[in-house]
Amino acid sequence: MTGGQAHPLPLLGPCDMCGAPDGVLAFVNEQFTEHHCPRCTHRHALYTAAYDHLGFLIRQAVTVWLPTWGHLPGVIDLEEQLRQIGAEVHKDYKAGCFDREGVRSSYPMSRAA
Ligand SMILES: [Zn+2]
Repeated sequence: MTGGQAHPLPLLGPCDMCGAPDGVLAFVNEQFTEHHCPRCTHRHALYTAAYDHLGFLIRQAVTVWLPTWGHLPGVIDLEEQLRQIGAEVHKDYKAGCFDREGVRSSYPMSRAA
């Protein structure tokens, strides 16, 4: 190796997510350090889109909230507050507290084998 660069991975290899033999070098976290099969590539893209959408919605809510409440001393600990809110929502979700209308299990990996 020269210049401290890591040896590049081969284009094809076993999937790092499920072990399938048809993995292709994938761009994950701004790097080509993993192989993903087509099925896991689909899942990764879907999850990334879902989390990007959630992040967009939360950012919009916080952007509206901040000018109203952000000036109060001690109120601006957003990281802790959002973590607690997320934990509560997750708990309620797991308990079945949300209406599942509109939620589709079209993703192939969610089906029973
Ligand atoms: Zn895979």
